Amino acid sequence: MDVEIKTKTKVRRINVKKITKAVKKLFIEANTVLGEDVVEALRQALTREESETGKQVLQKIIENADIARRKKMPICQDTGLAVVFVEMGQDVHIVGGELHAAIEEGVRQAYAEGYLRKSVCDPFTRENTTDNLPAIIHVDIVAGTHLKIIAMPKGGGSENCSAAKMLTPSAGIDGIKKFVVDTVSSASANPCPPIIVGVGIGGSLEQACVMAKKALLRPVGETNRKDDRLEQIEKALFESINNLGIGPAGLGGRITALAVHIEMMPCHIASLPVAVNIQCHVARHKETAL
Ligand code: SF4
Repeated sequence: MDVEIKTKTKVRRINVKKITKAVKKLFIEANTVLGEDVVEALRQALTREESETGKQVLQKIIENADIARRKKMPICQDTGLAVVFVEMGQDVHIVGGELHAAIEEGVRQAYAEGYLRKSVCDPFTRENTTDNLPAIIHVDIVAGTHLKIIAMPKGGGSENCSAAKMLTPSAGIDGIKKFVVDTVSSASANPCPPIIVGVGIGGSLEQACVMAKKALLRPVGETNRKDDRLEQIEKALFESINNLGIGPAGLGGRITALAVHIEMMPCHIASLPVAVNIQCHVARHKETAL
């Protein structure tokens, strides 16, 4: 039985056309304009790099990002799997269609009209879906009447080097650090370093993975201020990873990572889930609030 609930809360209507238009713009922009925080982190890395080859690689990466922005061209040939994070106020009412379909239409238009490479295929036949769909859409329902959309084109090379593991609780902080450093070490040059390392600790297996990816959305190098313990672990991991000697493009050097970002939540008493999501130097994400 449907029950009509009378409430004083004003519902805000958002038409799907507005969502499609915003998603299209975000994916084209994310693929062509590297965030100023990433560019600044690369510039800082250049001042700290000790290897001549490493310095040359960093200079080329910065130059490439500059050319892409000026000429409105993709920063990388891998224009990514379309990952979308949505924060939707519970007093928002989507009209004119359905949220997921509207987002996917925006992705489809961005990849077609923005001349972005379509990189999605059937896992078995490897046949391209031809429109870069489906998108990977995460929706959080929150208080309020706003709709925040974050577009994150995620490169395959760095995603391939990501990993998750259910550690035993006795593994503790040392076990977590070892897993993160081992994951980066075995990835070596494959995720196109310098990388940003997103780490999710706690929750469940899938929640740790989502936290690791969300950690990549933080401005590069901004530490986790919610918990002092995490800030310490981020710093220790940043140092250990940059002592691996992988360097820019894997050609050796001081700068393997631009940052390590950790997110954490409580977990089951029997578990210690840890996920590592590696992001290459083409760290793309753009957001808007409707
Ligand atoms: S991992 Fe990143 S830099 Fe490397 S090819 Fe993919 S998108 Fe490009």
